[in-house]
Amino acid sequence: MAEHRDWESLEQRLSAGALVTDPDLLMSYRQDWSFDPLAGTPRAVVRAQSTGDVQEVLRFAAEHGIVVIPRGAGTSVVGGSTALDGAITLSLEKMTAIHVDPTTRTATVEPGALTVEVKTAAAAAGLFYPPDPSSFEICSIGGNAATNAGGPCCIKYGVTADYILGMTVVLADGSVVELGSDRTKDTVGLALAKLFVGSEGTLGVITELTLRLIPAPPPPHTLAAYFPQMAQATDAAAAISAAMRPSELEIMDNAAIGVAEEFLHMDLDVTAGALLIARSDAGAAAAAEMELIGRLCQQHGATEVFVTEDAEEGEMFIRPRYAVYEALEAKGVIIGDDVAVPLARLAELTEGMARIAQRSGVTVVSYTHAADELTHPVLGFPFGDDAAAGAAFAARDAIHQLVTELGGTVTTEYGVGRHKTAQLAGALPAALIELNRKIKNSLDPRNILNPGVLIP
Ligand SMILES: Cc1cc2nc3c(=O)[nH]c(=O)nc-3n(C[C@H](O)[C@H](O)[C@H](O)COP(=O)(O)OP(=O)(O)OC[C@H]3O[C@@H](n4cnc5c(N)ncnc54)[C@H](O)[C@@H]3O)c2cc1C
Repeated sequence: MAEHRDWESLEQRLSAGALVTDPDLLMSYRQDWSFDPLAGTPRAVVRAQSTGDVQEVLRFAAEHGIVVIPRGAGTSVVGGSTALDGAITLSLEKMTAIHVDPTTRTATVEPGALTVEVKTAAAAAGLFYPPDPSSFEICSIGGNAATNAGGPCCIKYGVTADYILGMTVVLADGSVVELGSDRTKDTVGLALAKLFVGSEGTLGVITELTLRLIPAPPPPHTLAAYFPQMAQATDAAAAISAAMRPSELEIMDNAAIGVAEEFLHMDLDVTAGALLIARSDAGAAAAAEMELIGRLCQQHGATEVFVTEDAEEGEMFIRPRYAVYEALEAKGVIIGDDVAVPLARLAELTEGMARIAQRSGVTVVSYTHAADELTHPVLGFPFGDDAAAGAAFAARDAIHQLVTELGGTVTTEYGVGRHKTAQLAGALPAALIELNRKIKNSLDPRNILNPGVLIP
């Protein structure tokens, strides 16, 4: 139990202003984007300014048995950075330095830098940092590493893990380790940096990352195709994935097209069963790739196919896919989810979700990263309506049940957090869960780092 004087002594060891105990400010760190009604209130927030600050916090926490919740930008939708009563929320938001080295094509970044800032800094040097979670403008690069974030372009370019060469991590006892390096071929010993990727703040706190950058690709060509039935779109997507690797391959269901049209007034075909949007950034080969994608869409029953090589028009083609979240957000509260079923069963999933929506009166739409077989059901309900909220969460549970029946999984790219540990327990063999626990126990024997998150 830490006394008042212990907290005073911690404050003196930290950078000026890093320790926050003002009750009003503490309130703003209770929630992440899962908006958990059971979120606690932290005993203190530390806005670390250096690896040294993080070490001080973890030494203090270890000494006094206080739980620490690492926090980037708080966009977790699974409660990964939700506060717990009496715990320290350790925010990395002030550690935002970015250094790009064009010679080695690497970026050394502090964890609090936003993903969009890393992408922008890479682009300023003529380079590209590919991972593109839809939240890239509001989430941190440290949070991306801690959740192994992915997005639409991962079909071609891979996920966050594929760009991490090295990292600095503070362990639960306050010691610091440097893992990996700035070389791509640093293959000696266990790949320990990978162990911390996706560890959701349960094994250590990432205070620096070395990222691999690649040459910037040419602007993409974009194709949009309507299909009467979802099954035709998934067949087309399967044929496209077998023939090439487009830089994006997305499918919106009928409900998502309707929500986007109501918001954008773009004259979308709201009678279509699915809208497939594909992109190619293959430069000189892009036109041929688009031509082949268009042909495969037509062979599988597309009613209309539009193609553009103009970057601005391409943004218009892909806009409906991104507008879905905005449209529902403008109306109320959103539950964003991430599930996966085999592509061949996506039509059964979207039909089932339509039935769940009709039965429950909840708005349910979905879009799918088709080549990764990763579907985002998005549910919406009005602000302040408890009955509607209850119906929406029940509808989400019904979708999870359906996904399981279709041979799929209900934890994919958003992480496991605090809210999906039961689902992970159901999805992993007992021996693997035990291995996870052994690793956690050996690195954090007192269970100080983000207890209750990730590991069932
Ligand atoms: C609108 C919206 C769209 C989204 N779209 C996507 C998407 O397309 N793809 C996707 O993968 N995710 C998506 N997400 C989820 C979320 O944005 C990602 O999980 C993101 O990587 C979290 O980053 P963050 O900085 O907000 O982390 P936080 O929410 O602050 O933390 C997330 C987890 O990482 C841990 N953590 C954070 N920083 C560190 C650190 N430095 N060291 C150790 N642990 C740390 C936390 O303890 C927590 O467990 C979306 C979320 C929203 C709200």
